[in-house]
Amino acid sequence: MEKLIISAATTGSKTMRSMTPYVPITEEEIAQQAVDCWRAGAAIVHIHVRDEHEQVSCDADRYQKVTDLVQATGCDVIMNWSTGGGAGVVTDEARTAPVRLSPEVASFDCGSTNFGDGVFINSPRFLENLAREMDEHLVTPEIEIFDSGMLEYARELIDRGLLKAPHWFQFVLGVRGGAPATARELCHLVGSLPPDSRWSVCAIGRHQLPMNMVGMAMGGHVRTGLEDNIYYGYRQLATSNAQLVERLARLAGEMGREIASPAEAREMIGVRAVRAGAA
Ligand code: ZN
Repeated sequence: MEKLIISAATTGSKTMRSMTPYVPITEEEIAQQAVDCWRAGAAIVHIHVRDEHEQVSCDADRYQKVTDLVQATGCDVIMNWSTGGGAGVVTDEARTAPVRLSPEVASFDCGSTNFGDGVFINSPRFLENLAREMDEHLVTPEIEIFDSGMLEYARELIDRGLLKAPHWFQFVLGVRGGAPATARELCHLVGSLPPDSRWSVCAIGRHQLPMNMVGMAMGGHVRTGLEDNIYYGYRQLATSNAQLVERLARLAGEMGREIASPAEAREMIGVRAVRAGAA
């Protein structure tokens, strides 16, 4: 099996301080936990940013500040900026704007779904425009898939030339309203992937660790972090994002699966700067 890419989703838009004191909220906290996750074995850190009231923000300057703080430490982890967190809160234009600062990777939520008690809206018009902007600014999309209909829509965007190979997919399972976090569902999704694809899996709450382990055994890649799950064990809060990453790195070692460095992950998922440099 190829080396394992571990992603850490440190903050999200729905994990609040009232739920866990360990979720990083300020740019400084997010950057510090990103570096800690990298030291623990993460090649990619998926970040959301918040405002001074802990609410989700799409402020490009905040994203850039986190990235600058991380890079100033000498950490070369791949930064994956969220374009999904602002859904239903800010305009589609505000969600799109940060990608014009050319982060290496940004999330691309490939359709709409019920999400807990809310609705996660990603209209075809928004996605087509976002795909064009990301392509123009050399941003690698992490194509997030919440159910098989989204995967079908990704195939359409690929056929129309809006998403270019190689493709990097993140299966997000166990969202209330999306596909269930089961091995059967994951096998179905992986079996439906287009050519030139790599995939990772994350799952919500108590499903996080079991689905990470299934994904590792299948040869896929994994995402952990407090965005998806705040617990380390039953009724036991995770005390940091790095704690969750450390466990995955340890389990990968037990399975004989080496961990991909950020540089190796850049090549594997086709981060555009690498492709441009190699051309
Ligand atoms: Zn996210």
